[in-house]
Amino acid sequence: MPAPQIPDSPYSLGTIRRAESSPTGLVFNIMRCAIHDGPGIRTTVFFKGCPLTCLWCHNPEHRLDLPAILWDAGRCIGCGTCVASCPTGACRRKEGEIGIDPSCCRRCGRCAEVCPTEALERLSRRIEIEELLAILERDRPFFEEGGGGVTFSGGEPFAQPAFLLAALDACGARGFHRAVDTSGYTEPALLAAAAGMTELFLFDLKLIDPARHRRAVGVDNRLILRNLVSLAEKQVDLIVRIPLIPGVNDGADDLAAAGAFIARLPRRPPVDLLPYHRAADGKYRSLKLPVPLPNTEAPCPEAVEEAARRLSAYGLEVRIGG
Ligand code: SF4
Ligand code: SF4
Ligand code: SF4
Repeated sequence: MPAPQIPDSPYSLGTIRRAESSPTGLVFNIMRCAIHDGPGIRTTVFFKGCPLTCLWCHNPEHRLDLPAILWDAGRCIGCGTCVASCPTGACRRKEGEIGIDPSCCRRCGRCAEVCPTEALERLSRRIEIEELLAILERDRPFFEEGGGGVTFSGGEPFAQPAFLLAALDACGARGFHRAVDTSGYTEPALLAAAAGMTELFLFDLKLIDPARHRRAVGVDNRLILRNLVSLAEKQVDLIVRIPLIPGVNDGADDLAAAGAFIARLPRRPPVDLLPYHRAADGKYRSLKLPVPLPNTEAPCPEAVEEAARRLSAYGLEVRIGG
């Protein structure tokens, strides 16, 4: 089959976040013993920041406009320890409430560490490569047992390209299996650099139609499709992940377009179909953000099976979940 044809993108690369000078990363979670982000038992590093705004996003903590610290009024006993321990004065008490001034918060996490009632929860923190490596060394026995490793996810790991590349390089030097879970919305040169230091890409494919893609995730998809073609040409393991979102990309035409596109890639990767679920609703509520797609329910098992069948019809190896 001929390679997929992708029209030229009018999209300007200038809007993608540029490489930072600092080799530290801003992360919102490091999940140990993860089993859905690549082979074996893994440690998944969730990067803050993402240039997309998917209607169904399950990780709202990636947003950069959130404070570093979340305050739970129900747990607070008003002791003021957090305010006294803050090195910058960012943690303040006003009218009985604890607030964080993001303009001078260093995200050091000290206020949350000293809180006696866990009323403060850390939503993000800076991490250095050495600290990351120390965590991974602790998890090495799990990796060795099940063929696992480290997965860089998010948010979007390419939103912090300098840290991502430095972390991939350092993890490779220690012999850790490396996976990158990406939306694919990044500069091709960065993707190529990462591909030389990565064993596996988990590449999200949401919609083939550019206009509807833009409406659903906020950006044009032509750069993403181009990057997927280019990764399929490289010697790196690749799994395409399709989130199955009712009313967004679960129509027969959308599945046919996705199936045909993947089948015409230079190399035919396996596909993970990820059914929509509402497990993130609680996170949105605790972050005081509007719950997305309030009227959308998770697809029933029959609908998921049917979607998998439609994709398999293009000769693809399709797995539900992943
Ligand atoms: S994270 Fe650090 S700088 Fe920010 S409010 Fe807490 S103690 Fe202050
Ligand atoms: S340290 Fe915790 S309990 Fe004490 S005032 Fe701060 S948030 Fe409330
Ligand atoms: S690409 Fe992922 S992290 Fe970014 S908005 Fe979409 S679902 Fe959320």
